Amino acid sequence: MENDSTAASHRNLNKFTDFSLNDLVHDSAVAIYACDIKGVLTFYNEAAVSLWGRTPDLQKDRWSGAYKMYDLKGMQLIPKEYPTAQVINVPNASNRSEVIIEHPNGTLRNLLVFPKALYNPNGEIIGAHATLVDISNQATLEEPRAFLASIIESSDDAIISKNLQGIITSWNIGAEQLFGYTAEEVIGKSITILIPESRLSEEEYILEQIQQGETVDHFQTIRLSKYGKEVLISLTVAPIKNKWGKIIGASKIAKDISEEIKVQNAIYQYTRDLETLNSISRAISSKLDVQSTLQQVTDASKEVTGAAFGAFFYHLIDENGAIKTRFTVSGYPAEALQHLDMPRDTALLHPTFHGNDIVRSDDIRTDPRYGQNHPHYGIPNGHLPIVSYLAAPVTSAKGIVMGGLFLGHPDVGKFNVHHENLISNITAQAAIALDNSRLFEEVKALSAKKDEFIALASHELKTPLTSVYGYLQLLEKKPNNEMAALFVNKSVKQLDKLNKLVSELLDISKIEAGRLQFNAELFDLGELIQETVESFRFSINSHEILLSRPNYPITVRADKQRIEQVIINLLSNAVKYSPNTDRVFIDCEKKKTITTISIRDEGMGLTPDQQTQIFTRFYRADNTSGISGLGIGLYLSREIIERHDGRIDVVSEHGKGSEFVITLPLPKAF
Ligand code: ADP
Repeated sequence: MENDSTAASHRNLNKFTDFSLNDLVHDSAVAIYACDIKGVLTFYNEAAVSLWGRTPDLQKDRWSGAYKMYDLKGMQLIPKEYPTAQVINVPNASNRSEVIIEHPNGTLRNLLVFPKALYNPNGEIIGAHATLVDISNQATLEEPRAFLASIIESSDDAIISKNLQGIITSWNIGAEQLFGYTAEEVIGKSITILIPESRLSEEEYILEQIQQGETVDHFQTIRLSKYGKEVLISLTVAPIKNKWGKIIGASKIAKDISEEIKVQNAIYQYTRDLETLNSISRAISSKLDVQSTLQQVTDASKEVTGAAFGAFFYHLIDENGAIKTRFTVSGYPAEALQHLDMPRDTALLHPTFHGNDIVRSDDIRTDPRYGQNHPHYGIPNGHLPIVSYLAAPVTSAKGIVMGGLFLGHPDVGKFNVHHENLISNITAQAAIALDNSRLFEEVKALSAKKDEFIALASHELKTPLTSVYGYLQLLEKKPNNEMAALFVNKSVKQLDKLNKLVSELLDISKIEAGRLQFNAELFDLGELIQETVESFRFSINSHEILLSRPNYPITVRADKQRIEQVIINLLSNAVKYSPNTDRVFIDCEKKKTITTISIRDEGMGLTPDQQTQIFTRFYRADNTSGISGLGIGLYLSREIIERHDGRIDVVSEHGKGSEFVITLPLPKAF
């Protein structure tokens, strides 16, 4: 049922359609359009076009010129659900509805639609018309938006938005500052203007991520400013979605990270320097070879300071206690310096060689102390050109200058305070190395002196011993009475011992001096053992010596006397260190390429720890008190056997006994 007012409006409309609608409403600020009963658009004005964000396609569009339309819950409407269709097809349809339309570029607008059916003079519906009011920019929305906009505008970070085609749609002050372009210059242009050619594929990747709704976080990359300068940035790109989550573009926040990178690099540099310093101190504490340690120090100093050339001059005390100046170089062949004189105490080098202070110069040629000395007046010919100069003294803990570290570069201004600090650390460590090496040399010199003394003393002792021994032997043969015979016999035994000790000491000093002589000959080892055991049996009566040897010869090439010395040594030990038992076993065996001699006792034995030490010079196990000895026998025995390309091993159980096994190689022909 229509009421009066509706009827009146019909009439008015009928009249209205008699006029040219176009003329009347074309320029109206109010968006208006009309359609026929099938929804074909018959009229729309400019304001409607701008609201829809597009010009309608009259062939396709029905009931509205909007690209897409949604209800307030975000459900997309099909054309027959549009308000103009409703007003024609559904009785009592509302004359006012709120919808959301989407522009082809994804922009959304909230609209109030006022649809009305159009009637012909017969009262039949012939179409509909609608007035559209854009309510997207209502004051309620305006405020937070303005607030957000001001945040974006004032941000120091570059905040840019672009659509899915990569066209820049907004550009804040931060972006202007970072990239140099004003908003007017870039809005509407492709974002690729900021991307270096070699990185264009990044944009594809970013867009791909965005289209999948992914965020690209803190992506470190390089962009180009308006002036072609490369800017190091960290980029965060996030998709921009419309009300219902549809991705319509991307926001980009770009942060200038050049400073951060600088700091990072500085930290990296610092860490590397620390590592270098650590490796230097490790080298210094693990090596006593001063030349190779200082070479490492020189190389590392050159490396950490970026010098082209490094040299380390230092004073060493040689084995005779004399001071010698040596050097190591880095970045320059040492031979090239060989023909040059050692650095002299010139005005320039004085502070370094007198431990005064570090000298650093951006251009040493401008230093008043430079170039004053005959014959070179500056850097000698054939020397690497040095412009940047850094030199530090190396001073011992006692304040003695032991050397100097010199660094150079052919360019101006290569060294800074940081390098100066590094070098002062490095030279402090080098000083420790030199101090250590001095101590080492001093100890070596002392040890050499001691060996010299032992050699001399044993030699001096040996001469009177030999003559006393001779006289005693004469007396022994012609004793005056029984008592004298006994004493002489005892004296001879004691002298034997003393003689053996002195001989051993003499041997040691010969070993230390590398002068222990060997006279190799071919002999039957089995026979030697037999003879040795037989004469050994005479000298002891506390133990039975049980020998086992094959009945065929075992020919070896060796120093017979020395091998005998070792066997006697091991037999004496076996007897000495098994005071509570009465048997010692000696076995000899021939294998394919070797022969073994084993001497076994059932005595006190050795702990595993003692077993590792007994072959060291002067070592005696702590339970040997009351048993005479100097701790030389096993050291000598091992030295002798090893000099024969053999080995000597011990197998022992504490409290149960020990077995010493000598292995000797057999000569090839036997
Ligand atoms: P010395 O016997 O003069 O002390 P050695 O060099 O011959 O010197 O021996 C070193 C140490 O090895 C001895 O002091 C002793 O502690 C231990 N040792 C050597 N032989 C034996 C053995 N057969 N049994 C137990 N300990 C031994």
